[in-house]
This record gives sequence, C-alpha cells and structure tokens, in this order.
Amino acid sequence: MEPHSPEEYCEAALPVPLAKTFTYAVPRGLRGSVQAGCRVQAEFGNRSLTGVVLSVHRHKPRFSVRPVKKLLDDTPALTAELIELGSWVADYYCAPIGEVLRSMLPLRGETRSKRVVTLTPAGLRIAEASLVPVDVEGQVLESLRRKPLTYLVRKHRGAAKAVDRLRERALIRVENVIEARDPTLARGAALTVQIASGRVPAGRVSATEQWLLEYLRRDPGSHDLRALAVRRGDVVRAARSLARLGALRIEVKRAEREAAETVDRPELSPSQRRALDAIVSVLRQARYQTFLLHGVTGSGKTEVYLRATDEALVLGRSTLLLVPEIALTPALAAQFFERFGDAVAVLHSALNDTQRSEQWRRIRLGRARVVLGTRSAVFAPVEDLGLVIVDEEHDASYKQAEAPRYNARDVAIVRGRSAHAAVVVGSATPGLETRFNAEAGKYALLEMRTRVMERPLPAVRTIDMRREFAETGNTPLFSRELVTSVTNCLSRGEQGMILLNRRGYSTHVLCRSCGERVECPNCSVTLTYHRGDKRLLCHYCDHAQPVPTRCSGCSGDYLHFHGSGSEKVEEELARHFPESTIARLDRDTVRAPDSYETILNSFRQGECNLLVGTQMIAKGHDIPNVTLVCVVDADIGLGRPDFRAAERTFQLLTQVAGRAGRGEKPGEVLVQTMNPEHYAIALAGSQDYQAFYIHETKFRKAFWYPPFTAMASMLVRSRNLSEAVSMGASLDKCLRPVPGHVRLMGPASAPMAKLRAEHRFQFLIKSPNRRAVAEVLGRARHHAAEQKWPATALTIDVDPVDFL
Ligand code: ADP
Ligand code: ZN
Repeated sequence: MEPHSPEEYCEAALPVPLAKTFTYAVPRGLRGSVQAGCRVQAEFGNRSLTGVVLSVHRHKPRFSVRPVKKLLDDTPALTAELIELGSWVADYYCAPIGEVLRSMLPLRGETRSKRVVTLTPAGLRIAEASLVPVDVEGQVLESLRRKPLTYLVRKHRGAAKAVDRLRERALIRVENVIEARDPTLARGAALTVQIASGRVPAGRVSATEQWLLEYLRRDPGSHDLRALAVRRGDVVRAARSLARLGALRIEVKRAEREAAETVDRPELSPSQRRALDAIVSVLRQARYQTFLLHGVTGSGKTEVYLRATDEALVLGRSTLLLVPEIALTPALAAQFFERFGDAVAVLHSALNDTQRSEQWRRIRLGRARVVLGTRSAVFAPVEDLGLVIVDEEHDASYKQAEAPRYNARDVAIVRGRSAHAAVVVGSATPGLETRFNAEAGKYALLEMRTRVMERPLPAVRTIDMRREFAETGNTPLFSRELVTSVTNCLSRGEQGMILLNRRGYSTHVLCRSCGERVECPNCSVTLTYHRGDKRLLCHYCDHAQPVPTRCSGCSGDYLHFHGSGSEKVEEELARHFPESTIARLDRDTVRAPDSYETILNSFRQGECNLLVGTQMIAKGHDIPNVTLVCVVDADIGLGRPDFRAAERTFQLLTQVAGRAGRGEKPGEVLVQTMNPEHYAIALAGSQDYQAFYIHETKFRKAFWYPPFTAMASMLVRSRNLSEAVSMGASLDKCLRPVPGHVRLMGPASAPMAKLRAEHRFQFLIKSPNRRAVAEVLGRARHHAAEQKWPATALTIDVDPVDFL
C-alpha cells in the first residue's frame, strides 16, 4: 500500500501575456518536492510551457486542473527575495507576472542539475564491513564505496526503492549538484595569457586563435583568460593550442587575495575619500541607503566603486554592479576582473545561453560574489547583497523597451532597499528625477566636482552655424574652426573624436521635381541611405530596399540625398584629412560580435587618430590621448517629441565633452549648432549641471512632468487603421472622466503613427499621485481584457523614456 499523502496544488506563473497565475495539481510522485521558486513544465492550451511555481497549497480548486508535467529544479531557481521583487515589477510596471519571471531567469527550458548519491560515514562503515553484497541495498552500498554515482537507477534494478530506504536509514546522501555544461569558463578561471613569440605557421590558425593573437598583440601584458572567455566562448581552447605552438604563454594566476593586493591602487583624492567613507559607513551598518555619486567626467567614480566593492567583500557581502553596456566599457570590466578575479561573474546580452546559465549558476551557488552586468543582471540571484552600484544611472538603456518595461536603475534601488544594502547610483549628468530625489533628501548626495589629479575640465566652444553660413555662403558639414582644430590636433600627434548622433549616409532621399520622399512601407519615417550597404534602410523595422535612380512618384531623375549621418562624416573627414586614419563606431560598424572592442582598442592603441560615431563614442571611455572632441550637429535631439529632449541633449553633449583631456594634456571641445542660445546647448557648453537642473526643473514643474508627476504612456495598436481608431475611442470613453488630479491626454496619433505596419494611438497619463495613475492603468487593462483585445493591442509603459 502506498502511504496516503494529501492532494497538493501549485500556483504557477507562465510566460503568457496574462496578469494571473494558473493552478496545477502536483502529481503524487512530486509531492513534497515542488516548492515555490522551482520551474515546472505544464500544459497550457495545447502547448507545453515552462513556468515558475509561486506557491504550493492544499486548497482543492472548484474546477478541474491538469497535473504538473515535470519538475525542472530540485532547489528553487528563484529565491523568495527574487519572487517578491518580480511581483513588485509586475505590479509597478503593469506587466504579466509570468513574463516578468521569465525575463528574470536566463535558463532555457532544460534542467541541468543531476542527482549525486554518496555514502554517509555510517554507510561507509557498513559498506566496508560487508564482504559480499547480498541484496540490492548491499549492491548500492558496494557501488558507492567505489565512487559516488549519478545514475543508480539504470545500474541496479529496484535501485530507486533501495535508495529511498538507504536514505531513510541515513546511510546515503542524495544531493542535487548543478552540472557545469560549459566548463570552459571555469577552467580558464585562474589562468592568464600573454604573448610569447606571436608567430604562428600560416594557415593553421582558427578564427578565435587569430582574434586572440590580434588582441594580445594590440595590448601586450597579461590578460585574465576567463575575462576573455566571456567575450569569446572557445578562447581557452584557442589559447592552449597557441601555447603549444609557442605563440603565447599561459600562466597560473597568483592567489586571488595576493593578486588584489599587488594591484596598484591610486591614492584617493579628497572627494573620492569622502564619498567612499560615506558609503562604507552605511555598508558597515548593514542598512539601506541610496547615494547619488554625482561626479564630473574624469572625477574617478570607478575607483570609488572598486573600493566600496572591496569593502563589501571583506564584510562578507555581495556586490551587484550595473552598467549600460559592457562592450562599451571593457575597461571597467577589466578593472573588476583584475581586482576581484574569480569572485566576478558577468551577465550581459552578448553571452550565449550556455555562458549565461554558467554565470548565473556560479552566482546562484555563491561562488561569484561580485556580479557585473547590464539591465537584466538586476535580477541576478546574488545572496547577501550588501552593495548595489548603477553606473551612468541616467542612461536610457536601463529601461527595457519591451515587456516587462522596467527601469533597472529603479528596480536596483527597490532591491537594495529590501536587502538592506547600500545603493550607489553614479553619473556626471544624473537624470533629473535622481538629482531631485537627492535634493529632497531621499538619496544622500555625494559630489565630486573636480577631475582627479586636479586636471581641468575641457574648454568648450559653441560654433554658431548660422554665422558660418552668413559668412561663407554655404552650409558645410564642418565649420572652418573645426577643420583648423582637427588639423592642429593631428599635427600634435593627438587624437580626436567626432560625434554625429545619427547613423547612415543621408537621412532621406527627396525628389527635386515632385517633392516625394522615400518612406518605409511599414513605418512613418523616411528611409536612410547607407552608402556602405548600397541600400536604403529603415532604422525602426529593418526594412531594406535598393537605392532608386528615379522617383517612384513622377519618374523624375533629380533625386536629392539629404541630411548627413556618421557615414558621411567619415567620408568627409577622409577628404579633408587624407593623411589621417579614421575609425567609425556606430550600430552599423559593430554588427559583428567583437567589433566594439576591435574598434575601440585600435583607437586606444593609437592605430587610428580620429574616431567618428554616434552616441556610442560618448559613453565612459577613458582614452588619455584624446584632446579634441567635436560635435557636428548638436541640435539633432532637440526636436524629438519627448519632454526629456533638452535633458538628453545636455547629457549627451556633457558626456562627449568629458572624453577630452582625460590624460595629462588638456582637452578642447567644439560644438556646432544652429541654436547656440538654447539652454541645453549653452549650459552643456559651460558644463554647468546645476544651472541646467534649475532651469529644467522649472519647466517640468510648470508643465506637470516628472519628477513632479508620475507618468505613464499607453499605446493601442493594430494593423487595421479603423480598428486602431475604434479601440482608441472605446478606451477613451472607458477612462473618462478621470479624477481631478489626473491628466489624461489622447488618444492622439503616436509620434510614430505607424511602426512595423501597425497603426498606433497614444495616451499619456500624468498625476502627482502615483496611485491615481496606477488606478487609471488598471482600468485600461481591465477594459482590454473585457473587450478581449489581443495581447499586443494595448501597451502600457510606466515611467516611459521613449515616446515614439
Ligand atoms: P569617471 O568615471 O568619473 O569619468 P574614471 O573612473 O574613468 O572617471 O577615472 C578617470 C581616470 O582617473 C582613470 O584613468 C582612473 O584610472 C584615474 N584615477 C581614478 N582615481 C584616481 C586617483 N585617485 N588618482 C589618480 N588617478 C585616478
Ligand atoms: Zn520601417
């Protein structure tokens, strides 16, 4: 007779766009094993989905339920802390809980843990005492005496029952051991590589071997193999084969502690010291406090992060460090590896599934206590979290553009609060909301107003392009002053960066006879001409078409290519400065996986003297020989239909200016503009954040924008225009009237009225009372469900950063 066990049910969150959980029966064999946080496979409609168990209970549902098909984890993949965080995200951002939890787990469907059976000391005594095993139990003990087993069941008939009985008698131990499927990273852990002869017989090198050699030639010195393996999975094998050929040397790294101590640490500047002391004192008290580390470009924020992390480790607590994009800040990652070696795990989008699972499991098992990652790393399963750092906290890439539309900076703060951690959000140009919270005393403000070693901030000059036109009679891409400055910079043997925040060659193709523009068939935008690709491309849906020779409207052949992008700047620079070498960094040149680094490294090593690019060149780079930064068209962002247009422009200009003069030589910045009086441009010119903050907050307050209100946007979408119109109207009717302290705008055609062939209507909701906004959103969701709209028809974006 089977022992009687009561019926069990579980509530599972499934990755479907529905804001609820689903009940399944726990089959007899799994009772007692299914726990909150475990992944299960279950049938949903006619599909089989992987979901996460939120709770287990005994309440028999009134309707019939299907059983759980398979249990994927013996130990919960998500801790209670993370489930709670996930519920907060689902609630705050109006996202389906199942989709939130799915995005928190990097593990694809399959389980990789295995059961390992070993003898306990008592079991070992018995196994050693009995000479000839007589029954299955004896045979199991005998096998285990020789070695721990994983697949007992297959080896011995009836073993499963024997294992149960032996376990009850405490003679054996059954554990779930997580299998490292890709041991590459682990194996590279304590090794460094450096170039030896560097010579390899031709024709024998693989692509990765070639990449590695190239990398080491560019940057001689010893490199952490594991850091490299994160970028290129098979680098360990490549390193070994090159080492056999004598091309490079692999060395075992010194012990972690020792390594950390031999790294040169600069003497902290007084403001670094003050900031660090404040953070460390909160860390020691193990309480929650958010700090805004507002330090000008080049004030040495990274060093503060490193020291605080070190302190957290000493206190036995973990650190979570978020960065906007790892590939763009390889130097920061390298410093963390150098200081903390094996304790570091990285999580970012360039990892493949296997690498990501491997990193995730190292964190889950507590082997990696310093987690460095991009947006979704905010959900990394770190325990004993003591320190949370969000670098470049103003960066828009912390906001996820698809569901769940969370802002990782804000989730990091919420997580830090519940973990009683010190949270540090850092920037030279903090988001207005963040600085506002600091002014209000919600965050502690740590300011670093000067660069390290008393280096000066670069001098910025704005160049009025209207005057340039008045004086020269034409509208060149480059002003005369820009040409002179670049010439001088090159002749001094220094390097320059040129920003134009728009990729492609020309932004639109216009017929001079009939005025027709070439537009995307799916979106309401003009197509951009990409000269390298010889195509017209849509930057929103990736539609591509050949370059026309005649107008499709009037067949005229006076086609005009209008508006410049980074590709054009590169070409024009080459024409003006034929003796220079130019690299370009934008989304088109970084399509291949390692191209970010290849381009940045070659610039860092001085192989090229000019770097052209979009906002990518403005991010955190610390290249001492860069003494000149030029902005070709500073006004691009100002016309965006976004209340943060001025803020974004100010941030971009200040950040890119901050790339100049970071070494011993002072920097110079030129900003070409048609709006020199615009406060965002003028104040970026004087690098006066405080004045910008005061000006901008007045505007936000007057017009009811964040940080004075909570804000959300909603889109109704359909491929069918009249359907989109009627959905917009019905939602409008359902939501109005709104309470007096709520403003509801719309439905209006979204700035991108059509995107990927969908027609879009937009609502904006603002209120000083966040709960009131949530209440309106709740009504909208309810309406969509009641009207049985398809899941894609209504998009809700809380705290939106993108209004297209
Ligand atoms: P930020 O992120 O604030 O713009 P970084 O952290 O990149 O600045 O630091 C700028 C440069 O200053 C780096 O090259 C860094 O190594 C160096 N640095 C940081 N702290 C010190 C210090 N206390 N003394 C000397 N150099 C420092
Ligand atoms: Zn398109």
